[in-house]
Amino acid sequence: MANTGKLIVITGPMFAGKTTKLLSEIQKAHKSKKKVILFKSAIDNRYSDVDVVSHNGARFPAVTLPDGAEGIKALYEAAENYDVIGIDEGHFWDDTKGLADTLNKLAFKSKSIYVAMLNRKSDGTSFNLSKELLPFADHVQFINAKCARCAKDATFTQRVTPYRTVNGEISYVGGKEDYEARCRNCFTPPPKA
Ligand SMILES: [Zn+2]
Repeated sequence: MANTGKLIVITGPMFAGKTTKLLSEIQKAHKSKKKVILFKSAIDNRYSDVDVVSHNGARFPAVTLPDGAEGIKALYEAAENYDVIGIDEGHFWDDTKGLADTLNKLAFKSKSIYVAMLNRKSDGTSFNLSKELLPFADHVQFINAKCARCAKDATFTQRVTPYRTVNGEISYVGGKEDYEARCRNCFTPPPKA
């Protein structure tokens, strides 16, 4: 049988509409009677524990997975029974290599996989998942946001409130009120905590 699997990465800064795009792909597949499952990392419990909700209010039920190898194993086992797999906020997964390898493996099993993830951290550096997942992607969709300062195309996520520290490490998790989309010209890296 032909392998119809594909791995699609939807990336860009906050406020670009990544989750909206992810949910529209997931809902399209759901309407065409495909078996669809949506996952999110346990670390991202904004808005709702059971639904992925986009900034424009679209929602779809999601399975929340624990951190580490346990979460990756649970994802792989659950995903085997579905045709289309969505991952929201992929950058929040802590076992990024495990996630990238697992999604690549699932794409070889004819699964259609959509991963929404930030293009870079709000300090301007890269996420490990970008380095590990992009080489396996069949298609990368980059979505710009609009700069909150000058309205030009934005590719940066600007932290506008102080970072919080969780278990001695800087937490990048935040809500709408903690971030803005900025263009390269308007972006200023945050001071080191
Ligand atoms: Zn700007």
